[in-house]
Amino acid sequence: MNAIEETNHYFRKAARIMDVGTPIETLLATPLREVKVQVSIEMDSGEIRTFIGYRIQHDNSRGPMKGGLRYHPLLDAAECASMASLMTWKTAVANLPYGGAKGGITCDPSQLSLKELERLTRKYVDQVQDVIGPSRDIPAPDVNTNPQVMAWIMDQYSRYHGHSPAVVTGKPLELYGSKGREAATGRGLLYICREILRDVNLPMKGTRIAIQGFGNVGSHVARLLWEDGAVVVAVSDMLGGVRNPQGLDVASLFEHVQRTGTVTGYGGGQPCSHEEVLAADCEVLIPAALGHAITRENANTVRARLIVEGANGPTSPEADEMLEKRGVLLVPDILANTGGVTVSYFEWVQNLQHLAWEEDRVNAELERTVKESYERVTQIARSRKVSLRTAAFILAIGRVGKATVMRGI
Ligand code: GLU
Repeated sequence: MNAIEETNHYFRKAARIMDVGTPIETLLATPLREVKVQVSIEMDSGEIRTFIGYRIQHDNSRGPMKGGLRYHPLLDAAECASMASLMTWKTAVANLPYGGAKGGITCDPSQLSLKELERLTRKYVDQVQDVIGPSRDIPAPDVNTNPQVMAWIMDQYSRYHGHSPAVVTGKPLELYGSKGREAATGRGLLYICREILRDVNLPMKGTRIAIQGFGNVGSHVARLLWEDGAVVVAVSDMLGGVRNPQGLDVASLFEHVQRTGTVTGYGGGQPCSHEEVLAADCEVLIPAALGHAITRENANTVRARLIVEGANGPTSPEADEMLEKRGVLLVPDILANTGGVTVSYFEWVQNLQHLAWEEDRVNAELERTVKESYERVTQIARSRKVSLRTAAFILAIGRVGKATVMRGI
């Protein structure tokens, strides 16, 4: 199965339990629009290079489409379609007035200079500016994109359409960004962990957590959980991992990462592989890197009793089934990692109203939203006797399906 087939597998499983019928099921599985563009730039060397960019818009029945931009060498249309569809369900689970989209550029940003990255981003905006916009489709950061990239997007889009801060979220604070946005996905995961630990009667203090991925999601959730009393026993990034059964000192790990750019080589633990992080002896595993991390091949090595999906699509359907059979409780991406897009929504609202919220307000509203979605999803899981993933899809499909039918086909 490719990425979109995997997402549709989860979608169809829920749609069939709900009995939505083939016509609506087909409509909801089909993206609204798929844009594939040429992004050609002049490199610093003077050479011309052509990259491919995507923006896949899945659904807009509940509002303008929303979703990140990913810069990655392996990015393709199937992955964008999968993540666009996940954004539709994610925004519906969080009850944000948005649909779903996703896009990006197939490129390796580590091989590009800052100037090349800027030209690439601006050219991409030239190519998609007529299909995005504050009330059409609002991009945001994802893997390998950051507030600086969002600032270029805002600036380039504004050259066509006039001053438009609300066209993109995840902007720098100096340029209409929101307080709390940078850490928001990690903070949302913290709130989810608190809820699920309470439900299974585990105290946060002393609970052992392993985190795969130490980017925007993994690093913030590691810090927040550690500050909350959890014991972080293993982490990894693109270059490798580090573990310490007694617990890593996350503050000094942060200093190490700031200095060296990676968790590898950190002295407060032993080196370990990605697979060892997934198989770490712990209560909670948080996959927070790329998709397809937990598969048929390694699902049975997972020792955690709880999995909280920080990444989008980290668990393949076969692995999902194997884990469910073993009684591992899994909080799915479309519920667990809604923190980022939720604070993106707060940023967009602040931009449209030309005002700025204090961080306490952002975090309090985020906590309320996350708790409410968690409550709704667990209620459905209990009453229908389904997994949290299927329950989250049932909640989302119900909301999107109703909006679609009420608006009229
Ligand atoms: N890329 C993030 C996600 O996958 C954030 C999207 C957004 O803020 O629009 O949820």
